[in-house]
Amino acid sequence: MLRVTEIFRSIQGESTHAGRPCTFVRLTGCPMRCVWCDSEYTFTGGDHVSIDEVMKKVRDYGCRLVEVTGGEPLAQREALDLIARLCDEEYEVLIETGGFVSTKDVDQRAKIILDIKCPGSGEAERNHWPNLNLLRPDLDEVKFVIADRPDWDFALKIIAEHDLERRARAILISPAWGQIDLPELANWIAESGANLRMQLQLHKYIWDPEARGV
Ligand code: SF4
Repeated sequence: MLRVTEIFRSIQGESTHAGRPCTFVRLTGCPMRCVWCDSEYTFTGGDHVSIDEVMKKVRDYGCRLVEVTGGEPLAQREALDLIARLCDEEYEVLIETGGFVSTKDVDQRAKIILDIKCPGSGEAERNHWPNLNLLRPDLDEVKFVIADRPDWDFALKIIAEHDLERRARAILISPAWGQIDLPELANWIAESGANLRMQLQLHKYIWDPEARGV
């Protein structure tokens, strides 16, 4: 059984897949406590749901793109079985992970969107760096959430040190919601000349930013 906060259909709001219809399976629980976390409601509660029940809901929604997210989806070992089942049924599967759990046992058919936590999150010391060695340049993406200039400097340093422009399909630069001036961040990205992608959380502009299930 998995502990599940919500399953819903929406528009993918992030990554290079932004704008596509997507079913989201949001699992409950996360041991991290990023200061700007926008999904604290996943920390507790949730329903115990079998993988068969999750699969039925996913099938009913009818999207070929499915994201397994949280909370931290990989904190539940059973999530690996769900991901394999989704891949077996030929869904295109995205895994949005906070980057402190190893991705080595995730089904190779799934695409990883790997957070690299910056200092402003308060959780940067928990990054599981070996995950960077598992990135596949044609499939996986990395994401930095930027709250301030030190976060930006940290991101540039990590990108260079780990040669991420070559190792990831995309490097996503995401503003911490409401914490950083968007034109300023856009200028930093433009000035860098690096192969980066600024991303806004599309769903927060379409719907109420506090809303769940969007
Ligand atoms: S890893 Fe994700 S879910 Fe967990 S505290 Fe950080 S932002 Fe929130």
